[in-house]
Amino acid sequence: MKVVLIGIGQAGGKLTQKLVEFDANMDFNAIQGALAVNSAKTDLQSLDLDTVLVGQERVKGHGVGGDNELGAEVMQSDAGEVMSALDGRITAKAEAIFVVAGLGGGTGSGGAPVLVHELQRIYEMPVYALGILPGRGEGSMYQANAGRSLKTVVREADATLLIDNDAWHESGQSVGEAFDAINQQIAQRVGILLASGEAVEGVGESVVDSSEVINTLRSGGIAALGYASAGASEESGENINTVTSNTRQAILSNLSVPKATDADSALLVVAGDSDRIPRKGVEKARKWLEGETGSLQVRGGDFPLDSDRLASLILLGGVERSPRMKEFMERAKEANQQEERKEDPAEMFQNDELDNLF
Ligand code: GDP
Repeated sequence: MKVVLIGIGQAGGKLTQKLVEFDANMDFNAIQGALAVNSAKTDLQSLDLDTVLVGQERVKGHGVGGDNELGAEVMQSDAGEVMSALDGRITAKAEAIFVVAGLGGGTGSGGAPVLVHELQRIYEMPVYALGILPGRGEGSMYQANAGRSLKTVVREADATLLIDNDAWHESGQSVGEAFDAINQQIAQRVGILLASGEAVEGVGESVVDSSEVINTLRSGGIAALGYASAGASEESGENINTVTSNTRQAILSNLSVPKATDADSALLVVAGDSDRIPRKGVEKARKWLEGETGSLQVRGGDFPLDSDRLASLILLGGVERSPRMKEFMERAKEANQQEERKEDPAEMFQNDELDNLF
């Protein structure tokens, strides 16, 4: 799938850069263009991408702190500049636009829904969000910001591919220490998803096409990504269990939104050497996915790659009704109330039946 990426805020910029690097290193050429947008000048300076600084008048290049309402405002005021920077970058070849952002901060959290809205007005192709949810250990401001940002971006985007910062980090590492490792995992997994349909060798009936990614995301709402890989035998017949166990592992312990397995649609991409991919294994894995997701729309396809491993990459569409998402929205709601109480200290005295002194 030929895509254009727009990274907003610090996490959005860093991730976009990682995705561009992965795509180039693998020679996939799925990413047609990329741009980083931020209200903090120093964050942009550390990136090797074309950049647009927004909100200069309001925040003078110093960022919006954790104020995502201000993040939304500065993006709205400077949307024209971002659109001009995109001119010529979004060619007829592009099949989708991805707006990439951490949803818990300020610039990305507030800016991503605004930019998605603006892009939808101008471009015919699908506009997706790639959003990062704060881990449980992050403070209440991050949870509250992410809740409001997620709600709005889901309304605006054709689909929101969500990655929970708790999902792919090794135990024992704090989220902060783990950022680089998480970003690497995201780049690899999302990178393979984007490159699906870009395969040149072994193009045949079973090879995944980018329209299958788009159709899986067509139900809108929230999407999640699962991934697992293992060494494979040269004999495809010996790899049936490898494909089924990769598929289980991807869903049961390696999903970008853990346990969000109730889905409207699914796509199973089996990546690896075409000669090693067992048809029977792929069929079995698809059947298992139908049962696990409760979806009758399970698509499948190969992604031929020169490797001695086989990987299962699974895209789930429409997972917003899963218990994990409800749990997050509860967390965000509580955090939002907590943040509002902080803003108005007088509120704690509201129902205490004490009289003021004067
Ligand atoms: P912004 O620059 O104001 O948009 O704020 P950030 O991009 O720093 O967003 C903060 C949110 O993104 C927090 O929830 C962080 O956990 C998350 N975040 C920040 N940097 C990274 C990163 O490099 N990788 C990942 N996965 N998450 C990040």
